[in-house]
Amino acid sequence: QLEMERKVWTEAAFQRTFPGRSEYDHKGDHGKGLVIGGSSNMPGALGLTTRAALRSGAGLVTAATTDSVIQRIASFCPEATFVTVPEINGHLKYGNDIDYEGFDAVAIGIGMGREDASRPIIRHAATAKIPLIIDGDGLTHLKADLGVLDEREEPVILTPHPGEMAMLLDISVKDVLMRPFHYAKRFATDHGVYVVLKGAFTIITDPNGKQAVNTTGNAGLAKGGSGDVLTGIILAMIMQKQSIFEALCNACFVHGKAADLLIQESHSQHDLLASDVIEGVSLVYRTCL
Ligand code: AMP
Ligand code: MG
Repeated sequence: QLEMERKVWTEAAFQRTFPGRSEYDHKGDHGKGLVIGGSSNMPGALGLTTRAALRSGAGLVTAATTDSVIQRIASFCPEATFVTVPEINGHLKYGNDIDYEGFDAVAIGIGMGREDASRPIIRHAATAKIPLIIDGDGLTHLKADLGVLDEREEPVILTPHPGEMAMLLDISVKDVLMRPFHYAKRFATDHGVYVVLKGAFTIITDPNGKQAVNTTGNAGLAKGGSGDVLTGIILAMIMQKQSIFEALCNACFVHGKAADLLIQESHSQHDLLASDVIEGVSLVYRTCL
């Protein structure tokens, strides 16, 4: 019974569930994703997410951020398109400017900072009738306005690290680390969301409490930007033809496996950068599928 509920997500599971591409596919078949975030002191985060989503197989990716962030990340993700969001003190300012029409999924919060003026963007994003991923500072905004989850019917995916999980639950990080399965499941089932609780072992939980553990990855990922890359991989995966739960497990598998293959082939845990992990996705697709 326990094993059923807490399954280790293996390479065999990845190979079995990962959807292929057919000869007659066009970009619309692989999803149009939207990423929202960025601020003047964290411009790179959104670039990492955008590029990771493209590298992982998304058909199209649009980044919605301030004009100055667009200027700074555009050359890092030339395949992306951009939407300008108004700015206040270097942060996103809510002005109802983002049109969700035509997108298949959205990821919000990446490097957006905790400015109060940015908060209503989360509530607005929650009204979009597509799967919603909330990461990073977006989770802090969500915590101040948890009611937005009650009004949602489409899937919501939260990607906290242990510190963010503790913040969401009003408990200590130590508590989270003592009983990570318990707390991830509690939050997921109480709020009807998917939770990806990140760490050396990442626990994926669905809204009914079903759980799986990812075991790929290494301490080379213990660096700024790693989580932003995972969010991009998740965005790409949930737009492919697989269940959300499998897509989340596969995204965590690919992210960790990319880091594992890179430290065997051309890097070490010491020098591995989040941007290397994006390029490492190619190694995973070429060697594991
Ligand atoms: P964040 O804290 O948001 O940047 O996310 C960090 C990412 O790196 C998550 O996907 C973690 O699972 C991963 N990560 C961090 N440290 C390790 C580690 N020691 N072993 C494996 N994965 C890790
Ligand atoms: Mg993060």
